[in-house]
Amino acid sequence: MTQFPDFDYANRIRLVRALLEETGVGALMLSVGADLPYFTGYEAMPLERLTMLVVPSEGNPVLVVPTLEAPRVDDRGVFEVRAWSETEDPVAISAELAGNVDRIVVGETTWSTFLLGLQAAMPGTRFENASVLTRELRMRKEPDEIRYLREAAEATDRVVDRLAAMRFSGRTEAELAAAVRAMTLEEGHDVATFDIVASGPNAASPHHEPTDRTMQSGDTVVIDFGGRHGGYCSDTTRTFSIGEPAPEIVYAYDVLAAAQAAGRAAVRPGVTAESIDIATRQVIDDAGYGEFFIHRTGHGIGLEAHEHPYLVAGNDLLLEPGMAFSIEPGIYRPGEWGMRLEDIVICDGSGVDELNRSDRHLRVVE
Ligand code: ZN
Ligand code: ZN
Repeated sequence: MTQFPDFDYANRIRLVRALLEETGVGALMLSVGADLPYFTGYEAMPLERLTMLVVPSEGNPVLVVPTLEAPRVDDRGVFEVRAWSETEDPVAISAELAGNVDRIVVGETTWSTFLLGLQAAMPGTRFENASVLTRELRMRKEPDEIRYLREAAEATDRVVDRLAAMRFSGRTEAELAAAVRAMTLEEGHDVATFDIVASGPNAASPHHEPTDRTMQSGDTVVIDFGGRHGGYCSDTTRTFSIGEPAPEIVYAYDVLAAAQAAGRAAVRPGVTAESIDIATRQVIDDAGYGEFFIHRTGHGIGLEAHEHPYLVAGNDLLLEPGMAFSIEPGIYRPGEWGMRLEDIVICDGSGVDELNRSDRHLRVVE
């Protein structure tokens, strides 16, 4: 399990309680997922035995936890622990702690079996998605959270530099993915969480699973990987060419790099999340590749690899200092080739703070 840093969890609980009060919500209930460690530094095991933090708008927060998990819990002085034995009903205990309230917000990754149980136990209560409130805090990173994100990004940059010096030709995607995983750990992550190595025509699939395809001269190779450091995620993508790239690849990559640069340049407080998507998409559209850019421009990042804010058409959320997200346009020609360029950035007081800084050119490898 992840060791979460010693953040000011008591303050986060205070802030979310203020939001509960402001919005007239009686209690916050969090089970598996990233909201729970955000407020407690404790991560629930995804088990049939319920773990649930109950934060009533008045009264102390209580973590309802299976007795056998209780020894792992560090309350950090911010919540009480209610361990339940094998013959007790943790749903009933949680419902009672929440009290008789009109409205409750529940973590969006809570298993339906528990949510259905709570709804049956509290027939007069309206249940809503806690993320609407918790994202308001989680989207705006504290300086210490940014420090972890920056360190994680720097570790992935070192992996990219090592990759650029490696021989790709003759190796399989799966072999290179294993090397990426090992380097992700060596350079400073607690866990390596994903490693996409997509070569030749496979690179046209953005979430390709590495295969036994042997890479060869003439391939473009998309490598998208990341891990967690103190619970905080990294996520970066670079595209490589094995041998000198064909003119079409050189042209398309120039478009891609210009699109990503336009996205980074557009970041500042007060602009909409969708405006970053518009900035990257415009460059790719103008070059005639619009139909081959098949996903949004980016996603927020923090305790989760994908979280709010999402940089997607229709999202009129205004960017604010402290928001962390990826900028990752791609161009994918089905059956032929693909390319993507991804960096994590922070919206700071005046513009953009770039966490990933490894060379953004199409890297030619052997
Ligand atoms: Zn990625
Ligand atoms: Zn990403």
